[in-house]
Amino acid sequence: MSVPAQYDKGFFGHPKGLSTLFFTEVWERFSFYGMKAFLLLYLTATVANGGMGFDVAKGTAIFALYTSMGYLLGLPGGWIADRFIGHRRAVLSGGVLIMLGHFSLAVQSTVFFFAGLGLIVIGTGLLKPNISAIVGQLYHQNDDRRDAGFSLFYMGINFGALGGPLICGYLGERVNWHLGFSVAGLGMLFGLVQFVRGTRYMGDAGLKPEKCHDPKEAARHRKILTTGVVVTVLAGLTAAALHLSGVFVWTVERVADSFGLILFAIPVLFFAGLFLAERWTPVEKGRLATIVVLFMAAAFFWAAYEQAGSSLTLFARDSVDRVLPFMDEPFPTSWFQNFPALFCVLLAPVFAWLWVRLGKHQPSSPAKFAIGLLMVGIGFIVMMGAASASAGGARISPWWLIGTYFLHVLGEMCLSPVGLSTMTKLAPARISGMMMGVWFLAASVGNYVGGRAAGYYDRLTPLLLFGLFVLLTFAAAGVLALLIRPIRRMMGGVH
Ligand code: GLN
Repeated sequence: MSVPAQYDKGFFGHPKGLSTLFFTEVWERFSFYGMKAFLLLYLTATVANGGMGFDVAKGTAIFALYTSMGYLLGLPGGWIADRFIGHRRAVLSGGVLIMLGHFSLAVQSTVFFFAGLGLIVIGTGLLKPNISAIVGQLYHQNDDRRDAGFSLFYMGINFGALGGPLICGYLGERVNWHLGFSVAGLGMLFGLVQFVRGTRYMGDAGLKPEKCHDPKEAARHRKILTTGVVVTVLAGLTAAALHLSGVFVWTVERVADSFGLILFAIPVLFFAGLFLAERWTPVEKGRLATIVVLFMAAAFFWAAYEQAGSSLTLFARDSVDRVLPFMDEPFPTSWFQNFPALFCVLLAPVFAWLWVRLGKHQPSSPAKFAIGLLMVGIGFIVMMGAASASAGGARISPWWLIGTYFLHVLGEMCLSPVGLSTMTKLAPARISGMMMGVWFLAASVGNYVGGRAAGYYDRLTPLLLFGLFVLLTFAAAGVLALLIRPIRRMMGGVH
């Protein structure tokens, strides 16, 4: 795989191709977070108000399935790109599906609604891991700019995450839900146009799937693909038959529960299969083992971090003083969602600079992960303070929550862009797209666990729930800290 230009510094000291990928991701995330910002509101709004009229249990179950599924499908999305179509074509086709998905949501019909969600999760599965895999290919393996490049890319993600809710959220909530969905689709269209126009800066990064020299192996891949498609279709048909015959009636909650079981089985089976299926060199084996450890750390991290949209939002709604001095009525609870994205935008360049500045002296990836977990845990200590302060029913200052989000984003900066970068370094090139998929699988598991845990908000009291997250993240950080040395050895020269 040739790298476009080792010394290309056309985009803030980074290869020019990064600018193409940066802006594509800005628009993709604009559509993703723009729509996500009001999806649950739309699901739970009454039919008279143009919504779907679902109760909260059903609405959140659909919401959890949707967010978790988008990341889950990154696994087959990455694999298909690696083996068959190449990362670039995967990004393009994924973007088209996402755009069509949003436009489908713009039509007022239940069938179009679910079809739209389906298109978006499939499209996201194709686009999200593979665009990151291409970023990785812009750099040589030991190029010191790599982590910084991913930090910049991450800033793009959060520009999108800031603009989307602001514009689509406003239009959807205040003007018309379907206008909000359409504008999300339009955003993805901008992203596609700019991706197609910018491919010339990317050399041949992501252009072709990895060459498979062994015809037997190639045949095996085709067989896996066919089997996967057949099994999925058969499973779908069986589920539909059970439902229609009345033998087993699928409610949204039942689908969510079954999905959870499958979701936990997937990483176990996947990693077991991965170790057994191929003939890895000892160095490759060590790196794959590192990926397993980082995977678990990331799943813990996201389960805690993703409380932003669930338990922390409930806390903001119920216990935080949202009346600003110059306002007559409290500002919307959802406004708090802008803080993580804002902090990401502000802090990404700082971290990009920091990693370059520290150069060879920067902490290793597992050490950064441990710091990330620690930060998110410290954030929850602040929340424990907030929960105690409001225990008597008082509304407390918004700064508690804003401070927590700041700490969480400090943690995110140490873990999330670093994780993307590390996956592209550790994964053997022929499975790099799939390994990005594994990275997002951790997010999928984390989103699911976090969502279910947030369900205990009432039953456990906020103080105990936040305390639980302190324990979990600190324990995970502690274990990881103990593993830093052996992991560094297993990474086989990649740091
Ligand atoms: N917020 C980031 C994004 O949307 C990270 C998501 C994740 O990896 N869980 O890309």
